[in-house]
Amino acid sequence: MFYLSHMIIGYNDGMKKKKLLIIGAGLSGLYSAVLLQDSYEVTVVEARERTGGRIMGMDGHDIGPSWVWPHQKNILQLIKTLGLELFPQYTEGHALYDAPDGVQRFAPSTSTSYRIKGGIGQLVNALEKRLNKPVNLSEKALSLTETNEMVVLKTTAKTYEADRVISTLPPRLTVDNIEYFPALPEALHTQFQNIPTWMGYSVKCVIEYPEAFWREEGLSGFAVSHVGPLGEIHDACTEDKAALFGFVHSYAKFENLEEAVIEQLIRLHGRNAAKASKIYFVDWKKETYTSTALDAMPLQEHPSYGFDATHFEGKVIFSGTESAFREGGYLEGAITSAMGLASNLL
Ligand SMILES: Cc1cc2nc3c(=O)[nH]c(=O)nc-3n(C[C@H](O)[C@H](O)[C@H](O)COP(=O)(O)OP(=O)(O)OC[C@H]3O[C@@H](n4cnc5c(N)ncnc54)[C@H](O)[C@@H]3O)c2cc1C
Repeated sequence: MFYLSHMIIGYNDGMKKKKLLIIGAGLSGLYSAVLLQDSYEVTVVEARERTGGRIMGMDGHDIGPSWVWPHQKNILQLIKTLGLELFPQYTEGHALYDAPDGVQRFAPSTSTSYRIKGGIGQLVNALEKRLNKPVNLSEKALSLTETNEMVVLKTTAKTYEADRVISTLPPRLTVDNIEYFPALPEALHTQFQNIPTWMGYSVKCVIEYPEAFWREEGLSGFAVSHVGPLGEIHDACTEDKAALFGFVHSYAKFENLEEAVIEQLIRLHGRNAAKASKIYFVDWKKETYTSTALDAMPLQEHPSYGFDATHFEGKVIFSGTESAFREGGYLEGAITSAMGLASNLL
């Protein structure tokens, strides 16, 4: 026993690891921690009471992201390495067009996308299991101060000191919610304010049913609508639950969202659609650890993301999906940002 503990102490003494703080336990923060924890003493702090950030499950339904696409090699490789299984998005059958003058059936051209068996939350769970140290939850980062060789991070719970800090927050939160001493250069502050949080404006709604009646009618569940409240609807069945999901139109007007959604689904699918067993929705605009007031404005197209930015002479590094030059905004972007960071720091 003595020999073993002596050896361990000796090992730590000889190879003292540098301290690395990661702010945010979304996909990017968690994967960065997994990649860097053998070479650095890593601590992850997360403002929410849960990990995953924009990745979020509700009773097995994906209420944040659902899909990965075949060209996204890094996330696909990670999913495989973690031993998770994919299944294709259900697209068999016709789609519906919900027009002001009636509902029309059409045969859409479909692209292949995949979902993770058991829900996208499996990705977060699998990464968390690989961490040497649990994430420090319910700790909001408040300020970063540069001292001689170190950086001091103040959170709502503690004060930390580290050699390096990685912020994986969406850029707008990085400038709105964290104070920097010395301050961020004005140009970087403005640049970050102008980077929208991908999907920060969205409201996602999952409607659970006792059975997938649309499939029996030869429908894929996919619908597009200019009437709303849902602008785009898809099949969202899990292994044991039937469901549809949709994104609420930014210009939709309604008194009660749940009632308006069911009315729309009855218009599309008939009385079967009245028998929803449960409705879940998250307004991501109101998620203060994802979006700022500027994100309420819907995006017309996918922004061109990507930046390389540091502060305190490289001791604070800004990362996260919006920093990725390829597939920025997506899960793939969160993974590639973590991989790029790790290859720089290792
Ligand atoms: C409704 C919706 C649907 C989407 N659909 C898809 C899809 O189908 N496919 C796809 O590829 N992508 C999709 N996305 C995008 C995808 O979710 C993101 O690309 C990815 O999850 C971003 O990961 P991240 O770690 O970079 O950022 P985040 O997940 O935003 O992580 C940032 C973390 O920082 C934490 N944090 C914030 N402020 C603080 C603070 N002050 N102190 C400490 N911690 C803080 C947050 O709580 C969060 O955990 C969707 C997103 C949404 C919202």
